[in-house]
Order: sequence, then structure tokens, then C-alpha cells
Amino acid sequence: MLSKRLMCALLPVLASLFVACTAHDSGKLTVGVKFDQPGLSVKQPDGSLRGFDIDVARYVADQLGYPPDRITWIEAPSGQRETLLRNGQVDYVVATYSITDRRRQKVDFAGPYLLTGQSLLVRADNTDITGAPSLQHHKKLCSVSGSTPAQRIKDRYPGVQLQRFDTYSACVEALRNNAIDAVTTDDVILAGYAAQSPGAFKLVGEPFSAEQYGIGVRKGHDALRTRINAALEQMERDGSWRAAFENNFGAAGFAVPEPPPIDR
Ligand code: GLU
Repeated sequence: MLSKRLMCALLPVLASLFVACTAHDSGKLTVGVKFDQPGLSVKQPDGSLRGFDIDVARYVADQLGYPPDRITWIEAPSGQRETLLRNGQVDYVVATYSITDRRRQKVDFAGPYLLTGQSLLVRADNTDITGAPSLQHHKKLCSVSGSTPAQRIKDRYPGVQLQRFDTYSACVEALRNNAIDAVTTDDVILAGYAAQSPGAFKLVGEPFSAEQYGIGVRKGHDALRTRINAALEQMERDGSWRAAFENNFGAAGFAVPEPPPIDR
């Protein structure tokens, strides 16, 4: 049996081993992202990831001292982001993640690094859905569990038949197959799907919310949050933010906006 003295001597070693096992201190950085949102964050057939969120996540990682080969990517669907952060399964989340007071009760956010708004995607030949108010008339709408757009439809348009899937790509396939009438989420996300299938879909109406994308971190991880904010400021200042926007949203036809001020 271990003597009390030996056990006491080992305690600091055990404690440091425990710390080493958390995602952030393992020599690797683990980042939660979407895998199926063209323009923002998509996993390609060869396994590589590309998109605006990926560029942001990589830039931040580099500033934190992690080159691309030390980043582990984990899929972070909308409904799992807070859980992944709270369980320590990811160091940060860059996944079209809107900063909201409700989410701030569970996690903290760096940023914002992108501003967008909720909109609607319909099939290109649709003529009767023209914006959020026209949804009331027995239309089937699809969005994603745990997302702000799904919550907003529930709160503001209770008459709409809302189906919640796990991913937006599943909603878009249901739209393509006539199983639903419209998909709702942020316009940058919808524009990415429209650009991917030319002639199949169109965005309708004006954006009807203001979404500010933040980088989610574990609650109370202020040192990490501050360093991420510094990295985002640098990305916006040195032209990388603009280049990432042009490279990833060029196909969707968005003009490059002013990057949002970082909220320190
Ligand atoms: N930005 C919204 C949200 O954080 C919608 C996009 C998403 O579900 O990732 O819920």
C-alpha cells in the first residue's frame, strides 16, 4: 500500500496530469465547427475543412500558438454547442454561433466577428412565400434544434408548422424534395446553399433579426476570451478578415462589409 508520505508526494503530479488532460493543455487545440454549411464551414470529400468560420478559427489558433496540424476539429451542431463547451470537449466554438443573453448564462463569447440576420430560403419556382409574414398560411418551415431562428419562429409565428432537424443541410434536402416549403436561418448560411445549387433555390424577403456571431468559450475562461478578442482585432486590422470574406462569400454575391468592432 502507498504510504501517506508517498501519496502526498504524488498528489501534485496527479493534479498536473488532470490539468494536462483538459482539451486546452494537451498540446492540441480542439475547435467545434459546423461540417455542412457551404461558405462558412464545410467538410470536403477529402476530409479538409473550408469556409469563413474555418479561416477565423485557424487565424485565432495561429495567434494562440497552434499551427494547423495541432488543431483537432469536432462537429458542433447547433443544439450541442453549449454542451460541448461545458463538458470541456472543445476549447472554443466557431460555428455561426449567435451571441445571446440566454446562451451567456451557460457560456462566454469573444467577438462579434460577423453580423447577419435571419432570412428564408425557398425553391426557385415558389411565388407565394415572400417574407416572414407570408408563412402563416399552412406552410411547412424547417430549421435546426437549439438555434435562434427556430426559437424566433416559435415565439413570433406560432401558427407556422415548424420542423426541427439536426442540421441545415438536412432542411435543404427536404426543401429540394418538396417535403417542406422553406428553410429559415441566417442569410449568410442560406446564401451558401443557394450558391451551391445554382437555379434550385432563392432567398426571399428582408432579414428579420440581427445575429452577431461570437466565438464560444467555456464560462469564466476570461484569459482565453481576451486572447481570442485580440486575435480577432488583429485579423480585422491586417486585411485577413476581408480576404476571408471575399474568398468564402464571393460565390454567394455578398459585398464585403465593414468588420464589426470587437466587444471587449
Ligand atoms: N446563428 C444562429 C444560431 O446561433 C443560427 C445558425 C446556427 O444554428 O448555427 O443559432
